[in-house]
Amino acid sequence: MKNRANPNILKVKPYVPGKPIEEVKREFKLKSVIKLASNENPYGPSSKVLRAIATAGRSVNRYPDGGCYELRRELAKRLDVKPEQMVFGCGSDEVIVLALRAFVREGDEVVMAKPSFLVYSIASAAAGARLVEVPLRGLCYDLPAMKAAVTPKTKIVFIGNPDNPSGQYSTKAEVAAFLDGFPSDVLVFFDEAYFEYVRAEDYPDTLALLKSRRNIVVARTFSKLYGLAGLRIGYGVADVEVADLLNRAREPFNVTSVAQAAALAALKDRSYYKKILDETCRQREVVCTGLQKLGLECSRGATNFIQVRTSQDSSALAQALLKKGVIVRDMAVWGLKNYIRVSIGTPSENKRFLKALGEVI
Ligand SMILES: *Cc1c(COP(=O)(O)O)cnc(C)c1O
Repeated sequence: MKNRANPNILKVKPYVPGKPIEEVKREFKLKSVIKLASNENPYGPSSKVLRAIATAGRSVNRYPDGGCYELRRELAKRLDVKPEQMVFGCGSDEVIVLALRAFVREGDEVVMAKPSFLVYSIASAAAGARLVEVPLRGLCYDLPAMKAAVTPKTKIVFIGNPDNPSGQYSTKAEVAAFLDGFPSDVLVFFDEAYFEYVRAEDYPDTLALLKSRRNIVVARTFSKLYGLAGLRIGYGVADVEVADLLNRAREPFNVTSVAQAAALAALKDRSYYKKILDETCRQREVVCTGLQKLGLECSRGATNFIQVRTSQDSSALAQALLKKGVIVRDMAVWGLKNYIRVSIGTPSENKRFLKALGEVI
């Protein structure tokens, strides 16, 4: 059947996820394994969210509300945007796909950084786009070069901010310079999956940019801080016209009722998620300090994960950590040969990671 397949699909390199805990337990005959490889919230949902999930579970015989009415109203209020400016997705991954579906035709160009979030390239390739990949400078976006890469064929520029895997963010001034004189008919997609973790003053307020620009999408997710990765729910905020186009591109029931209920409950349980956020930021410091004590460089970053620069082969290092029951991400896959990416876990997980790392380097 391969010869009958859409050639764009044949070009897609399948996504390689972090190894599942159970697989590592089996493979290395380990009793206890920790996963610091997928930037998940290690604490899980709050009891209020769990209750909302249980309640919503009683009605799963019904189709969900395709318009995410309650969640949309609640979020729009909090973000100070109109409900019609929003689009919900099966994870923010789907919002990326919707933008491509709504705007990109065969042969159009899509600009992104290299390395960057793999979903940009996978979904763009599947959409038949020509990928224009602009190398990072160090670990940071080269926004001037990305702007220079825009041609009349460009439909979307993807800006992960902060990006994954780099963990770095583009500043307010950098983004302002990028948008200055930028074509008003090219979509700028700000992927802010980790925005809650940014503590820096010079991080851009992209929702404010939406007040004067119609070519911006801001995507966010419940998968990271809110710990709902397994339920798959994210959203995009855009100009009403763009949001309408993205909504036309989605399946009618793309977000489950359980996910909607959980997201709404999570938004309302502010104190629980604030505690998690504060603890994660504190633990990020603990891990970075621990790494420095081991003589390793780490990006302090703006996310719930960090990049660790090692002097040895990162693939061998990641493998050695696996044998000790610690799953991290080898960055060689992204072309960052001497880096491993480590998600910030619970205090005891972080301690175990630092101990294991000290033993294998
Ligand atoms: C995790 C992540 C997302 C969110 O993915 P979901 O589909 O919402 O789970 C989006 N962008 C980046 C850069 C990410 O790392």
